[in-house]
Amino acid sequence: MLYQAPLPPAYTRMTGGEMRDRIAARKAQLGKRLVILGHHYQQDDVIEFADFTGDSFKLSQLAAQQKEAEFVVFCGVHFMAESADILTTDRVKVVLPDMTAGCSMADMAAIEQVEDAWDRIGRATDATVVPVTYVNSSAAVKGFVGGHGGSCCTSSNARQVLEWALAGESPTGGTGGRKVLFLPDQHLGRNTAYGMGWPLDAMAVYDPREPDGGLSDAEIRRATVLLWRGHCSVHQLFTARQVDEIRSLDPSFKVIVHPECDWSVVQKADLAGSTEFIIKTIEASTPGSKWAVGTEVHLVHRLAKRFEDVKTVRLLAGIQCLCTTMYRIDLKHLLWSLDELADGRVPNLISVDPETKALARIALDRMLALVGDGASKSMAASTVDKAHCVD
Ligand code: SF4
Repeated sequence: MLYQAPLPPAYTRMTGGEMRDRIAARKAQLGKRLVILGHHYQQDDVIEFADFTGDSFKLSQLAAQQKEAEFVVFCGVHFMAESADILTTDRVKVVLPDMTAGCSMADMAAIEQVEDAWDRIGRATDATVVPVTYVNSSAAVKGFVGGHGGSCCTSSNARQVLEWALAGESPTGGTGGRKVLFLPDQHLGRNTAYGMGWPLDAMAVYDPREPDGGLSDAEIRRATVLLWRGHCSVHQLFTARQVDEIRSLDPSFKVIVHPECDWSVVQKADLAGSTEFIIKTIEASTPGSKWAVGTEVHLVHRLAKRFEDVKTVRLLAGIQCLCTTMYRIDLKHLLWSLDELADGRVPNLISVDPETKALARIALDRMLALVGDGASKSMAASTVDKAHCVD
């Protein structure tokens, strides 16, 4: 985890109201020089000041569009700020208000482990292996993927990216010449490939903590999709049993979950998709409908509040499913960042080295281009068929 220096004591003594007033004043002072991006999982106090909100894919697109701004203050986690730095021009400075806002999933795939895995897989098979990384990964891993003919993906477009990576392959018999190494979230990879028709036995889990990844050469050769053993500590908290419990409590609830949840949860749910998909589905649902949602608690509570008079929205789990690292970005750190910028200093600058940036940009650009080819089709599919809902 990166280090965040303690803030000057004045910030811890301020009331919420004082901080709000000062943030509003700093935003006005910095004007068009500043853009604040807020991830959907961010706490409400911070989201209130975001110029744009979205999931990691939408925020990547928005970051790429920032031509006028001088500063992008990214209220998300470290890998998102890195992506913003990669996608913006050199004149845009990307700031993460608290450097300890990391992602446990991204940390599960260190670049050295990925390089070892690549060598290991290459020794076991002559097949073409296409690396695909969820954007929830470090810039170094993205750079590796870009430099080895692969692509990034998000939960919004994982299906399109896997279809591209496995072009020519088919669950019912293809050429047999291509495989995918899917990093670092095994659940998104498994749910997406299964939704495309690949059976579970066409997949194998590579465990970077095991000798040889815990796989024999034959298992590597047999698998079409090699899944990295990584997960999201928030979405891992949702279980198939919770789906059963909510249905026995009130069968009129529809269950909608994020594809970072375990395969058994996605199978039992009525719908699964990215945070943008979850929001749009609940927005479009009929008055009186009831939703149990398997994703981060701040987004679910915000949806519950927004629709409180017309729909019922609740968390699928009875426990708090909180992204504790994203939660580190609070009003204090946001205000401190803006104060520093207004005083001519750039705090917590996120800067990816030029070589990594160039390679990671290839993987991110491929991801952005692939979405343009298929998003509306997959969104239409995802509203009618659970098997295709991991887009
Ligand atoms: S919700 Fe999970 S994947 Fe997303 S930033 Fe938090 S730990 Fe990482």
